[in-house]
Amino acid sequence: MLEKILSQGLNFLFPSLCLECRSPLAPQESLFCESCLLRLPLAKSYCQRCGTLLSEELLNYYPKEKLNYCSKCLKNPPPYDNVYIAFLYQDPIKTLLHKAKFGENFVIAYQLGRLMQKIIDLPVKLYDFVLPVPLSFKRLQERGYNQSLLILWGYLGIKKPLNILQRIKHSRPQSDLSGKERIENVKGVFKAKEEFQNKRVLLLDDVMTTGATLREASKELKKAGAQKVDLLILARA
Ligand SMILES: [Zn+2]
Ligand SMILES: [Zn+2]
Repeated sequence: MLEKILSQGLNFLFPSLCLECRSPLAPQESLFCESCLLRLPLAKSYCQRCGTLLSEELLNYYPKEKLNYCSKCLKNPPPYDNVYIAFLYQDPIKTLLHKAKFGENFVIAYQLGRLMQKIIDLPVKLYDFVLPVPLSFKRLQERGYNQSLLILWGYLGIKKPLNILQRIKHSRPQSDLSGKERIENVKGVFKAKEEFQNKRVLLLDDVMTTGATLREASKELKKAGAQKVDLLILARA
């Protein structure tokens, strides 16, 4: 409550401005005003089962905005069940996320989570666990925080620290590697505790590129007995 009063008070004295049009933001807005938000690179057409981006042309053939299955995941279904993607990994989201991750500007990560909530409003109560993809201890020490956890806090509007999915091995950054190397690089890096038996899990990650990390984490969760694993992605590369 106090936190809310303080932030509203601060917002009144120093209103944040929309990064695009510089108009003052309303308390429920984050980073961008509502009209600029609609001009951001939103992820409009993707396979909701595996997260593959689809050409906008496909939308002419499929009346629905999102496909339930694409040809790729019909052949080789992913270990997760549904994917929800807010943005394409393009500017200005790309630059903001870069600042959040490498510029120690962790407030931006929280604000991106709030912004994401405006695009995808999932019924989070339907999940037993809502978790960020964990970082290794070494990476956490280097960066000082897990950006995906801060995005999640912004998204949920509350802090819920949970340590039931862990990253037990340190691996090289996926961005340095090719597709095949990425799969090898994250093999066995996650460890899920026993609490996942028959549970529904929502897993949040900042960027999905090949999806290798998210596949590995989902596999581990299913192995631990999770009934359902859905992914919530800030940006799709
Ligand atoms: Zn604006
Ligand atoms: Zn698919």
